[in-house]
Amino acid sequence: MTTPEANARDAAPSDFIRDAIREDLANGRYDRVHTRFPPEPNAYLHIGHAKAVWIDYGIAREFGGLFNLRFDDTNPLKEEPEFVEAIIEDVRWLGADWGDRLYFASDYFEQMVEWAIQLIRQGQAYVCDLSPEEMRATRGTLTEPGTDSPYRNRSVDENLGLFARMRSGEFPDGSRTLRAKIDMASPNVVMRDPVMYRIRHAEHHRQGTKWCVYPSYDWAHGLEDSIEGVTHSLCTLEYEIHRPLYDWFLEQLGIYRPRQIEFARLSLTYTVMSKRRFVDLVDRGFVIGFDDPRLPTLAGLRRRGYTPEAIREFCERVGVGGRADTTIDMHMLEDCIREDLNQRSTRVMGVLNPLRVVLTNYPDGQTEEVDAINNPEDPSAGTRKIPFGKTLYIERDDFRKEPPPKFFRLAPGREVRLRYGYFITCQEVIEDESGEIVELRCTYDPATRGGDAPDGRKVKGTIHWVSAEHAIEVEVRLYDHLFAKPDPDEVDEGLDYTANLNPESLRVQAAYVEPSVAGAPAGARYQFERLAYFCVDPDSSPERLVFNRTVTLRDSWAKIEKAMGG
Ligand code: ATP
Ligand code: MG
Repeated sequence: MTTPEANARDAAPSDFIRDAIREDLANGRYDRVHTRFPPEPNAYLHIGHAKAVWIDYGIAREFGGLFNLRFDDTNPLKEEPEFVEAIIEDVRWLGADWGDRLYFASDYFEQMVEWAIQLIRQGQAYVCDLSPEEMRATRGTLTEPGTDSPYRNRSVDENLGLFARMRSGEFPDGSRTLRAKIDMASPNVVMRDPVMYRIRHAEHHRQGTKWCVYPSYDWAHGLEDSIEGVTHSLCTLEYEIHRPLYDWFLEQLGIYRPRQIEFARLSLTYTVMSKRRFVDLVDRGFVIGFDDPRLPTLAGLRRRGYTPEAIREFCERVGVGGRADTTIDMHMLEDCIREDLNQRSTRVMGVLNPLRVVLTNYPDGQTEEVDAINNPEDPSAGTRKIPFGKTLYIERDDFRKEPPPKFFRLAPGREVRLRYGYFITCQEVIEDESGEIVELRCTYDPATRGGDAPDGRKVKGTIHWVSAEHAIEVEVRLYDHLFAKPDPDEVDEGLDYTANLNPESLRVQAAYVEPSVAGAPAGARYQFERLAYFCVDPDSSPERLVFNRTVTLRDSWAKIEKAMGG
């Protein structure tokens, strides 16, 4: 076969999931590929979910198949429309396209109840009056079988009657369940008469008060995939032991059966990756919300300045992974965003820790504009003008009174280049009573405008600057890892993971930036030359811009000094 689809299939990356799908297509088990991403709308998505989306959507696309976005909204107590909206936004932002296939498991409730009644009729489900505690106590352990419920042998008619009464709201929460009648001695505890329905007099965010029985995840999940004609149900490893149960339900009902394949859950160093933890961190005030730029939620990463392209690249580098849960180095994610922002972000000059420089031989009251390149990686981005004047701010770190060896930046008596400006030489250091340096008096060489000396003399250092008169003051939020340890759970006896929170994960301060950023909208991305990538935060107002530091520039020194012929 040499159809375009076949070519795409052959060109697709190879991993154990894709290999299994190719095999299924080759041997005729399926003649198409249909995947889905099935989030529960009970929290915001994180980058682990992005991995799952990108596997599901990526595979559907590569194999010319279909991809559904389906909300697994079977638990009314934890789900909210806010999360539905947020998840839709995140999946769309990531770039996965579900076409018109946005589904809700709650739309299948009627069908699920019919199937439950079918199992009761077949003698494979029964109403059980054990309390949740009693059920737990009779479930057995990994090494010991469970014991049969005393209600296990109710007649079909009695079960039909009781289930109807459960549905009509006659019984209080927790008083009865509908259970599958499988095997209380099964070595797989999941198969020990699992619960199919619980009584919950709760309002559902889409169904209102129509229902007072709700399906368990175990009962509902396989049915949802079957209803939608999903061919490959891709999910994380913790669902592996549930697979025989999903298959059992579908087999007993005699309905279409997808194939489930499990892959590794993604974790990252220096952070946590679970909804429960996010809720905990928000509730205890350690972060400001689910979109806190320190969290690995997609909303947080977006606010921090991550692009969907960088996250997709990360997902592709991570791939499907092996058959064991993996913790990926946070640096891998940071490299992806750095590479992407290097290509796309506008360069500007900004100073985080200002030191005043006065050019003593620069005419009083004069200002001028120098030309700067917007993005050396993208000539189409053009150039801009930056105001230059007699008084400047440079980065405090770029001056040393007593420079150590290999420090090529400014020092007494030394000449350096102001990027896009002039060569300047430090003539005098002004200190206050406490010995703190408050100002440098320098001279500039008018012949070096633009950064080159006509006599060919070289300087070793190039530093950034802003004009004190023209720079605008902004707020910068400097983020670092949320946790101080790669594994936040590595704590001493008696402490919880929050003991490992990094006290330096957020530093807020002022910075001075060239005026070209004035009026930048939320989400605008910049590289502050030699410092880091920044992104405008929605907290900005017309009076005050707020910038989030997305990621620092690694090796920024080496690169710029080399590029400038230093
Ligand atoms: P969490 O445990 O983080 O709270 P969850 O597993 O309860 O998340 P769901 O909404 O049930 O979240 O997940 C939707 C899909 O995303 C599932 O198919 C699940 O396998 C997948 N998924 C969840 N977490 C990860 C992860 N860390 N890495 C990869 N896939 C994940
Ligand atoms: Mg879940």
